[in-house]
Amino acid sequence: MKTFPILIAGKKYSSDFQSLPEFAKGWRTVLTHAHGGVAHCLCKPFVPELRKLSIKYTRASDKYHLARFHGTEEQHETDCVFAQAYGEHVKSDVAGVDAVRKVDGGIAVSFHLGISTVKKTQSSSSLTSVNTERKKRSTVKSLKLLRLIWELAELDQWHSSFAGKRNYFTAFYRIEQASHYIQVNGVPLSNILLLQTTDKNERASGRNKETLDDAIANKRKLFVIAKLAQYKPERNATHSGRLPIIGFSGMPWISVSSELWQRTVAAQQTAHDYWIKGGDVIAIALIEPETATSASALEVALMPVSDNLVPID
Ligand SMILES: [Zn+2]
Repeated sequence: MKTFPILIAGKKYSSDFQSLPEFAKGWRTVLTHAHGGVAHCLCKPFVPELRKLSIKYTRASDKYHLARFHGTEEQHETDCVFAQAYGEHVKSDVAGVDAVRKVDGGIAVSFHLGISTVKKTQSSSSLTSVNTERKKRSTVKSLKLLRLIWELAELDQWHSSFAGKRNYFTAFYRIEQASHYIQVNGVPLSNILLLQTTDKNERASGRNKETLDDAIANKRKLFVIAKLAQYKPERNATHSGRLPIIGFSGMPWISVSSELWQRTVAAQQTAHDYWIKGGDVIAIALIEPETATSASALEVALMPVSDNLVPID
């Protein structure tokens, strides 16, 4: 397998520049500046829509690397390093598993927990057979679902043309649009998704309130996606018993047990540390609404994002 020259922001970088130790510092600087953007592999002549690579950063190793876009391996020369069948990139990772399938009108996700709030003992025989079938399949948990939504909303990349346009308002608009193309356990995600919003927008659209009322009427759980409120030691050092998010207009009061919060923090120490240091962290929660004003979280996951809302690995 060979490394070919890479095109980043109109400049060509040789394979020597990418790999030789004397250029390591320079190459890192190039990748640091281009982080979140799109590069192109030059194993074949440059075509804007082909052989795209994203520039990723891994916090754990403090390293930048290039990853091909999902499903693009066949665009590369057979001996190109990006033609290899591998799954280091989250896109391949998410889309490659059986739990995420292409269906008419979008993708279907098998979530590891049921969406119905009706207890199993009360379920009809048809529901039971669906559940049995689901158990044979692999499933995704909240964090994978959140990453998948980000990917479909095309928020997992950065391009210079987004400058000045990528903010929470446009991001959540894109997420809402993407939610129409995702089914979770056969239910359209758009029907069971509460999203960060402003009081003004919620007053105008009534979207969260309507979704919540609909979920209660249909005995369904809901997903919530919103940014964690800025960390304040005096407020957040001890768990308040609720999900500390912003933009919760139209949502019920979401309680999170200490036990669940501790489990979430333990499972996602890096994301939690990033929040404590003042970084932006997106939360996803599966909640069970009890009334129009109160709900309990069943699962919570956290995803740190850059100022441009690109997920940080
Ligand atoms: Zn290539």
